[in-house]
Amino acid sequence: MYEFPGMAETAFCYHCRQHHPKSEMRQIETKAGKRWRCIRSIEATRQGQAAREAYGRQVSEMNKSEAQSRARLSKPIVTT
Ligand SMILES: [Zn+2]
Repeated sequence: MYEFPGMAETAFCYHCRQHHPKSEMRQIETKAGKRWRCIRSIEATRQGQAAREAYGRQVSEMNKSEAQSRARLSKPIVTT
């Protein structure tokens, strides 16, 4: 372990399994106790979740409109 002079203290990031400067990290309460995790990985997870949720919404919207169009197609066309 080496540290640059004047560089902030580092902590072990349980997500990356690497040390990062504490200024770029957040302390997280886990079942195992307090752990350090970098903001970047937290943000990435958050964005990943948001993207997954957005994708899930998109898929359910698609399924809904597909079901609607299928329902429309299955209805007899009545012309007068
Ligand atoms: Zn990290």
